[in-house]
Amino acid sequence: MTPGVRPFVAGNWKMNGSRASLSEIAAMRRAVDAGEAGAAEVAVCPPATLLAGAATILEGGALNLGAQDCCAVDGGAYTGDISAPMLRDAGASYVIVGHSERRAGHAESDAAVRAKAEAAHRAGLSAILCVGETRAEREGGRAIGVVSGQLRGSLPAKATPADLIVAYEPVWAIGTGLTPTPADVAQMHGAIRALLSEIYGEAGAHMRILYGGSVKPANARELLGLANVDGALVGGASLKAADFMAIAATYA
Ligand code: PEP
Repeated sequence: MTPGVRPFVAGNWKMNGSRASLSEIAAMRRAVDAGEAGAAEVAVCPPATLLAGAATILEGGALNLGAQDCCAVDGGAYTGDISAPMLRDAGASYVIVGHSERRAGHAESDAAVRAKAEAAHRAGLSAILCVGETRAEREGGRAIGVVSGQLRGSLPAKATPADLIVAYEPVWAIGTGLTPTPADVAQMHGAIRALLSEIYGEAGAHMRILYGGSVKPANARELLGLANVDGALVGGASLKAADFMAIAATYA
């Protein structure tokens, strides 16, 4: 945790969920509104097909809505893409950019991720910008160098603690049940904090830095208690309201 920084817990549903799953989002809303996440800010990022339905369920409540990706361009002839203004119009207030599944599976470069973060900001969305090293990069002793390079290449020139959240997600920890040691997480988050402060000055000292990669109810307390870990980006364990809220309840 960072003193004075409001924690943030976000759920990334990836390509999972149908309209029937909206009942989980309704349960999350009830739990957040009942104060089960304590002081934490909470967001759920379902697939684009469920954004409008989720927005209806979340209206007037404290649970925030996010999307998983956006186009770097605001509109036009980009078949299949979804722009940041469209996400905003659908009710989202956050968007994940640069998730490793998009960096790897869709060949998204650091420059492309930066352009998406800038598009998010133009539309009034907050960007959750993901970075993380592969197993080979960690084993080669290059984790901090790789993540620092991704950040320097993909962070927008201007950002505030309100519109930029960084998520450190080691690629090898996503969906695998593996997590780095607490010491490795703390070291990486400390390096990210130093870089954010170098780039954004005082604002960088207050930006949220999330940990992501196999966060579960059983390991949340240890991971989220580390210095400069200001919340979590949760994949698999965010699909069920009970699991997701058990993680968010770390802050209750
Ligand atoms: C993710 O996809 O952002 C993620 C962290 O997934 P999981 O929690 O399933 O490892």
